[in-house]
Amino acid sequence: NESPAKKFQRQHIDPKLPLSSTYCNKKMEQQDMTQGCKPLNTFVHEPLKKIQAVCFQEKVTCKDGKTNCYRSTSKMHTTDCSLLDTSKYPDCKYQTVQKERYIILACEGNPFVPVHFDASV
Ligand code: ATP
Repeated sequence: NESPAKKFQRQHIDPKLPLSSTYCNKKMEQQDMTQGCKPLNTFVHEPLKKIQAVCFQEKVTCKDGKTNCYRSTSKMHTTDCSLLDTSKYPDCKYQTVQKERYIILACEGNPFVPVHFDASV
């Protein structure tokens, strides 16, 4: 059974930068997010340790009002995958948009690690 920390890694971490505009179509399928076509997902292209370190950076309020969110102190390479409205289930088709942004993650547990991607700003 997949832990919340491992689910976060599967859904949100890919250390390699995308090389093509079809990145999201392939990666969303590979990482098992196309049962139901997940509508929006962000990948962070940085090493695992650098992403885990965000849990010890700037504390901020999460979108749901909880207080276990943290914003990165530096911008990170990210890709937003958004489901196209022309996508026909079960053939999930995504727009791939690369951005350099600060990321906001929810962290939990001992060790204190990311379990949810809250936002990028
Ligand atoms: P993600 O939200 O990372 O895109 P997802 O949409 O699949 O993934 P979940 O499967 O709900 O969402 O993963 C979020 C996990 O993080 C859950 O286990 C949830 O309990 C946990 N969590 C902890 N703190 C928060 C928080 N502040 N906001 C949202 N989820 C949180």
